[in-house]
Amino acid sequence: MLKENYLKVEENIKAACERSGRKIEEITLIAVSKTRPYEDIIRIYDAGQRDFGENRVQELTRKFEELPEDIRWHMIGHLQQNKVRQVIDKTVLIHSVDSLRLAETISKEAQKKQIIVDILIEVNVAEEETKFGIKVDETVKLIEKIASLPAIKICGLMTIAPFVENPEENRDVFRKLKQLSIDIEGKKIDNVSMKCLSMGMTNDYTVAIEEGATCIRVGTAIFGNRHYM
Ligand SMILES: *Cc1c(COP(=O)(O)O)cnc(C)c1O
Repeated sequence: MLKENYLKVEENIKAACERSGRKIEEITLIAVSKTRPYEDIIRIYDAGQRDFGENRVQELTRKFEELPEDIRWHMIGHLQQNKVRQVIDKTVLIHSVDSLRLAETISKEAQKKQIIVDILIEVNVAEEETKFGIKVDETVKLIEKIASLPAIKICGLMTIAPFVENPEENRDVFRKLKQLSIDIEGKKIDNVSMKCLSMGMTNDYTVAIEEGATCIRVGTAIFGNRHYM
């Protein structure tokens, strides 16, 4: 079952790439494994998947210990200052940095471990009150400040689009994030690249690919509905 779901997602990615003239290698599928048990994750791992996303530090660190070493873990959820130390050396990318204070903590802890941490800036494009992320028109200012921190590298932008019935309704959100990344790239800020655009989830990942996503974060379409305990 899970494997079929997974293959179906890969097929949809391929079709979206064909529609929009993009190469399939440009897209990283992140299988969002939050709340999923070991056996389900291993099934997808055995089908060839290596990038997995979690939104809670405690769960990520536990799974990091239990699951194969060659999994690339992505932190996609809101990150608290006091959890930074536990997570920075277990993830390949932190998608959810939205304040200078958080970036400073990451950089400080990274220096202690003598590593460089790759991050994305989370932008609340749709300006939903319930969501984390910085406003579009405050993004450049924040990036300029974070760019000067020693042990952090900005690799692009992330957004969580609103939950909508029709994915077309989010096309404009994805376009805005893409445009913002082009504007920032044009500024040629030292230590800042815009190669990653993390946008699109189960409901709208094909639209996100058509609009330039390089990372899509897909949970439900692969693992089925989540049952929160
Ligand atoms: C849970 C989650 C996802 C995956 O959502 P699905 O709708 O299950 O695909 C993607 N991104 C973030 C930040 C999430 O928390």
